[in-house]
Amino acid sequence: MSEIDPLLEGLTEPQTQAVTHVDGPLLVLAGPGSGKTRVITRRIAYLVKGVGIAPWNVLAITFTNKAAGEMRDRVAQLLTERQARATTVATFHSLCARLIRQYADRLGLPPGYSIYDTADQKRAMKQALEDLEINTKNFPPASMLSSISNAKNDLLDAAGFAKQASNFYDRTVAKVYTKYQAILERNGALDFDDLLLKTVSLLKQHPDVLAELRERFQYVMIDEYQDTNHAQFMIANALSAEHQCIMCTGDPDQSIYGWRGANIQNILEFEQHYPAAEVVRLEQNYRSTKTILAAADALIVNNRGRRHKELWTDNPTGDPVQIVTCADERQEAGWVAEEFKRLHEEENVAWGQMAVFYRINSLSRVMEETLRNSSIPYQIARGTAFYDRKEIKDAIAYLRVVANPSDEVNLLRVINTPARGISAASVKAMQAFALANNQPFDELLGDPLRVTALNSRAQNSVAKFGKTVDTWRTTAGIVAAENHDPTAPQPSLRGFVEDVLRDSGLETFYRNDKSDPDQERLANLGELVTSAQQFEEEYLFEAEQAGEYEQVHLREKLLAFLEQVALVSDADGVDSSQGSVTLMTLHAAKGLEYPVVAMIGVEDGLLPHDRANDDPQELEEERRLAFVGITRAEERLYLCHGKYRTVFGQTMPTIRSRFLTELPADVVEEVDPSSDPHAMEDDLFGGGGGTQRSLAAKQAGQFPPGALVKHPQFGLGRVVNVSPMGAHTRAKIDFTTSGTKTLILQYARLELI
Ligand code: ATP
Ligand code: MG
Repeated sequence: MSEIDPLLEGLTEPQTQAVTHVDGPLLVLAGPGSGKTRVITRRIAYLVKGVGIAPWNVLAITFTNKAAGEMRDRVAQLLTERQARATTVATFHSLCARLIRQYADRLGLPPGYSIYDTADQKRAMKQALEDLEINTKNFPPASMLSSISNAKNDLLDAAGFAKQASNFYDRTVAKVYTKYQAILERNGALDFDDLLLKTVSLLKQHPDVLAELRERFQYVMIDEYQDTNHAQFMIANALSAEHQCIMCTGDPDQSIYGWRGANIQNILEFEQHYPAAEVVRLEQNYRSTKTILAAADALIVNNRGRRHKELWTDNPTGDPVQIVTCADERQEAGWVAEEFKRLHEEENVAWGQMAVFYRINSLSRVMEETLRNSSIPYQIARGTAFYDRKEIKDAIAYLRVVANPSDEVNLLRVINTPARGISAASVKAMQAFALANNQPFDELLGDPLRVTALNSRAQNSVAKFGKTVDTWRTTAGIVAAENHDPTAPQPSLRGFVEDVLRDSGLETFYRNDKSDPDQERLANLGELVTSAQQFEEEYLFEAEQAGEYEQVHLREKLLAFLEQVALVSDADGVDSSQGSVTLMTLHAAKGLEYPVVAMIGVEDGLLPHDRANDDPQELEEERRLAFVGITRAEERLYLCHGKYRTVFGQTMPTIRSRFLTELPADVVEEVDPSSDPHAMEDDLFGGGGGTQRSLAAKQAGQFPPGALVKHPQFGLGRVVNVSPMGAHTRAKIDFTTSGTKTLILQYARLELI
């Protein structure tokens, strides 16, 4: 037993039950912070070490790359390095991307197929609408893409969609869908939804592949199952239908991706899909204080379509949840910055233990500026930011062109970037020629003389570029070399990326870029080389563990690297060890936890979002989103809103979120810096902060418990107590008509009666 002991150490009885469940379907249905993710990690280790199941038979699917990374790290602590690496811990998208690469020939795709991100998708969509001469005003590209995405999530391909289209709008979408898909196909590209869709058809249409994968992935585990969509359900189900060793964990109250096609029925009907299922409920929360948990519970009971779950905690009661009313977004950001600074200085809370959440990305700007001005280190969890930079997209586009000769979208991006004498008119002429001769655009690079519409200078430039691309492809093994020597040492990925940056002219271009005197873009390209190197080291290590070290070809490393880059997502940018405050959307916060959480913009129209107006279902999803935010907090929670907010340049009065009114008075404390916005600004920007602090101290003495006071808004009340906290000195007042409120003295404009 001794080997197993550490695997079960510190687990509760129901957690142990889930961890030691070996065969047959298992559902862990439990609220936030109850250890669902922990149970999956331990179960992986238990199956391998405790039961002796081969690690490569284990597949765990998490919601984000970051969660997968963390799970891998935890598993590595419980198993040997070799065992840990043999398990598969992935997201649905990364798993599918890998399977598609592996079985590309079955799907008629090049193994170096491109994965299109949102920007690439938009470009392909614009092209489709242009080709069909459809007016983008009536049929905006974004709504077309979202209709197509919905269809794909329901496993409807273009033909299937066309069949069921019954009105003019849908028939137009069907045409656009067909065209868009044809463009992707011509480019050897898949969008994110296609990754799932193609995997479903791979498993459906190739029984031998399915059999192989079932044999391989005998134990399937899925975290955050409440947010799986239909396609993901099909994949999970196909893999585990035979062995039935599927374990899902989730919480229906945290289902927040309905707008992206997630189907909450997957978890609600688990027992119907798997009648033999054992269901384990976890009821103890290890994350949050009693107060935070009570607030979360009080909120979520307002959702009608749910089954109530008991959740309790042994953790301390903790501080009340603070509802912070600010004058506007600037004061809100200032208040959060100052409170975080106070916690950091007075209570030794590390920056990395604090987070700010918001409903939509645009709310981060003012917060960022304020943190910057206050010299508070912060990071934004926007995983794609690095790869979104122009210079990085250029570099990646070059690598994609090397890997995937069909990828015209990326080829067009780089063909004259940096400028090499191939004008837009020349490109148009080549496109026309390719179309007329039914020839892939890429082939013209090797044979530009045939395009008689090009002048000889352009022909030369194209031929020269074509040669460079060809050399890259030969080096990378994408096209066969003439005197191929299989024993020759493989070039490194790092070296190859450096070659491409140099030979493409990108490096020189950014070195001489006058608009970037600090050479930041050049430094970013350097960072890309570093990331290629790190990826390569990891990749080789894994290959070595699997005993395949000798065989790793540059081509393989390049394709795997591009796949990883394409799958970076929002939550990936988070690294709390960096010692900085994390800013992220509520959606990205799923599964994470922080000792201190501030949610900003808790206003009607933002949270709940406007789109939930008049739609009770959407309103419930918004409430779940607020619930997810609240339940990330371990010790302290601030729910902030402004009385005014500037959106699209217009300052508008706001209404505090209805969710705030659903929180019971005994778990919240009202803080109202908005009563004196100027004092707050002065304090923040250094003007007169000191005098206000001493003023507050003086005031504290003026309002002894029991004193009768008057507030301009809340009327008459009696002081219950005063907590001296410097500039944040608070008084709890029992108002005759407005109930108990806690106010910051220096802003409260209280009068002693
Ligand atoms: P969410 O629904 O938010 O994803 P979860 O159910 O996955 O939450 P975990 O993240 O696994 O919860 O656990 C929450 C916290 O509680 C983690 O810090 C975890 O380490 C801790 N925890 C879980 N179980 C125990 C336990 N038995 N003893 C001590 N700590 C635990
Ligand atoms: Mg979890």
